[in-house]
Amino acid sequence: MRPNFENTAIAFELKSDSQLERAYFLFKLISNEPLVRIGTAVTNFAIKAHLPVEGLIRATVFDHFCGGVNEEDCLPIIDNMYGNGVCSILDYSAEGKEVDNQFDFAMEKTLDILDFVKEKDAMPFAVFKPTGFGRFKLFEKISAGSELNENEKAEWGRIVNRFEKVCQKAHNLDVALLIDAEESWMQDAADDLVLEMMRKYNKEKTIVFNTFQMYRWDRMDYIKKLYEMASDQGFKIGAKVVRGAYMEKENERANDKGYESPICKSKQETDKNFDAAIAYMMEHLDQFTIFAGTHNEQSTLKLIDLMEKQGVPTNDERIWFGQLFGMSDHITYNLAANGYNSVKYIPYGPVKDVMPYLIRRAEENTSVAGQTSRELALITKERKRRKLED
Ligand SMILES: Cc1cc2nc3c(=O)[nH]c(=O)nc-3n(C[C@H](O)[C@H](O)[C@H](O)COP(=O)(O)OP(=O)(O)OC[C@H]3O[C@@H](n4cnc5c(N)ncnc54)[C@H](O)[C@@H]3O)c2cc1C
Repeated sequence: MRPNFENTAIAFELKSDSQLERAYFLFKLISNEPLVRIGTAVTNFAIKAHLPVEGLIRATVFDHFCGGVNEEDCLPIIDNMYGNGVCSILDYSAEGKEVDNQFDFAMEKTLDILDFVKEKDAMPFAVFKPTGFGRFKLFEKISAGSELNENEKAEWGRIVNRFEKVCQKAHNLDVALLIDAEESWMQDAADDLVLEMMRKYNKEKTIVFNTFQMYRWDRMDYIKKLYEMASDQGFKIGAKVVRGAYMEKENERANDKGYESPICKSKQETDKNFDAAIAYMMEHLDQFTIFAGTHNEQSTLKLIDLMEKQGVPTNDERIWFGQLFGMSDHITYNLAANGYNSVKYIPYGPVKDVMPYLIRRAEENTSVAGQTSRELALITKERKRRKLED
């Protein structure tokens, strides 16, 4: 059945009145662009200056968009959501790390989470970010085709080993592993590495997933080439399909350096590209497992229509719908209530380390006209239904 995204009773069932009020306050705040810009700058400064702002961040954005500072904090949330049919992906979101022991730490976290995933039905995937396992600049250098010196070669070897270790463990445990996508100027190196992992570990079933950012106009060609390769060489493609989170940065860099931006010319072009990728994968469901990471209602409904047309059951293992914790509950919970595989990314980690993630969320909700107002409209509707309005 087609889910009804207007059903706010289902969407916010797990939110207490006070949590709903906090969400209302928060989205009102971040709908104000100048306020977000000032707030971001002040918060960054305060953290660098070691001012005691963690409490304030926790009580506002952090607790809304993150599960907690460690896995234990997240467990009650995971169980609670699973009670309403929604699965979870624990996403260790510390960003901007630069040294080997921090990369090893992130890898160990992912290895531990794979054990969790094996044990808990509520957690169908683990996830990591390529630059969580190695220096951004090295991914960038390889993507640019530059020669590495001896030290860098050894460093790259350690990154490959980290990828290898987690993918091999995921394969041994028979659990799925998502790999995020980041800025285009580091992504080629990551794509090549993930391709290697898919070749090796996706022979019988889909274990390793890459992420395709459909705001990039070159991705459709890449997906088609990958499909040809996978059919010839006999491996499955795990495909997390997203629009992409780094648009402003991408356009700015292209403009500064004077090359053509890799980003589609308009939002409509991105939307078309996203829906085309999903349609292509649905045509080749023998080879693809789809993870649609989106808050876009139209794209979600289009995928549902294709599933219906092709007679694919709502809970088919090859199709997943994902949203971020703290956003688009109306999609997540109404999908789950209608039997679709629905899952939330739950970011967690020390408050100051997840700040880049939180800032992206605040900026995204500000810059994407319509998204915040949609969240606000739904929260307002639910406040009215609960008679919370003042
Ligand atoms: C579960 C999950 C996992 C994710 N993983 C990743 C990841 O690994 N890597 C990553 O980069 N992002 C990731 N994202 C974030 C995602 O890429 C988007 O930033 C976010 O979901 C908003 O897009 P949307 O499809 O939800 O919604 P929409 O609100 O419909 O689309 C907004 C998006 O459209 C694009 N857009 C907006 N304006 C324009 C314009 N003028 N021209 C061209 N394009 C435009 C941008 O990508 C923008 O983020 C993930 C999201 C989810 C839900």
